[in-house]
Amino acid sequence: MQLKPPYILRGHILSPIADADLGWRLLHEPEGALAVDHNGLIVWSGSAKDCPMTLLGWPIQDTSHLIFPGFIDSHIHYPQYHVRAAFGADLLDWLERYTFPEEARFHALDYARGVAHEFTETVLAHGVTTALTFSTSHTEAFLALTETAHRRGLSVITGITAMDRNAPDTVTRDLGYFREANAMAFAHLQHFPRLGYAITPRFALSCTEDLLDSCGTFVAAHPDIWVQSHVNENPDEIAMTQALFPSADSYVDVYARHGLLTPKTVLAHSLFSQDHELEQMAIAGTSVAHCPTSNTFLGSGLFRADRHLHADIGITLGSDIGGGTSYSPFATMAEAYKVGRLNGQSIAPDQLLYWHTLGSAQALKLDRVGTLTAGYWADFCLIDPTCSPLSEVRWNDRKDLLDGLFGLMFTLPESGGGVVATMTAGQTRWSQL
Ligand SMILES: [Zn+2]
Repeated sequence: MQLKPPYILRGHILSPIADADLGWRLLHEPEGALAVDHNGLIVWSGSAKDCPMTLLGWPIQDTSHLIFPGFIDSHIHYPQYHVRAAFGADLLDWLERYTFPEEARFHALDYARGVAHEFTETVLAHGVTTALTFSTSHTEAFLALTETAHRRGLSVITGITAMDRNAPDTVTRDLGYFREANAMAFAHLQHFPRLGYAITPRFALSCTEDLLDSCGTFVAAHPDIWVQSHVNENPDEIAMTQALFPSADSYVDVYARHGLLTPKTVLAHSLFSQDHELEQMAIAGTSVAHCPTSNTFLGSGLFRADRHLHADIGITLGSDIGGGTSYSPFATMAEAYKVGRLNGQSIAPDQLLYWHTLGSAQALKLDRVGTLTAGYWADFCLIDPTCSPLSEVRWNDRKDLLDGLFGLMFTLPESGGGVVATMTAGQTRWSQL
């Protein structure tokens, strides 16, 4: 299906939307319509029969597939496209044996461009339209990703990875290099309205105090940018962090002391955060990225959604490729459900969908994506619930909408996730139709 705005798309709409009283709710229109103007913005959505008369002259397209908002992957590593299914390692070992050697290759622009292409096509093919992604410490990796994402219409938030210790020379860069590369990269992104800049200290362990200071100083000078990093993922990592930063009260406090805990900070994992760390994040308005397939694959631990919700911290969902194992948002949501069960909770399917769409957008302070509502970008994907025999039976036998949605999380094929087309700003960017 090749869509080019303006048009009205008629089909089965399923999207979390903001609600003044409830915070959010699920919009479900089995016979819905979505009107997209020539700028790629949604100007109207709802039941097709209620479509305003003023739009009736627009071209009409029909789809038999489910229309979901584009998914937001709030934590992913584009250079780790080739680092998946790495056997027998926990976090620090996995970094040393598999990840750092691969990331070292990104000093070569051609190699980085090749992977940026593979990454961009793959996330679009899985219905992801916005990604908060790590790059590497190399300028070339950053440029390769941003030029590719811009060309293909994928919205990415990224930055030069800051790391100047505790890793091989091939992936670390000194403070002088980082300062220059970071300033260049930030200036470069000002030309691309749908790309965003994130200060990206890999994690506290990989940064000296001076490097973290430099990151914090940059954020203070540019308070609208994002901050992304990792926190409290693995007991060995936490112990080493405490040893390296003895004056900090906690892992979270390392970031706080360097001015890196902001309302636009997203910290991945937070598996072992103490109550006072959660409180510190909540006060700052910082969000967390829950990456369940990574946490189970590396054996890192179980995310406590209940504790973060109780602390009023925004929860987002991320694939964390390549520690994570699937690009499919449905697989990520399914794994988040399973992690919840291991903690004695049953996280509702609409809650999981919210975390991967509108909830992520709200946590990231992105006010034009994550939902299929007037005024937002027409970023969406079409899902075929009958794409496999298993998903077809499960969908057709659904007891109600939430039961059907839950079934999709566990029966859509992990590769592709049932996505048949993905659009950003109303234009088809990937399609198998
Ligand atoms: Zn990560």
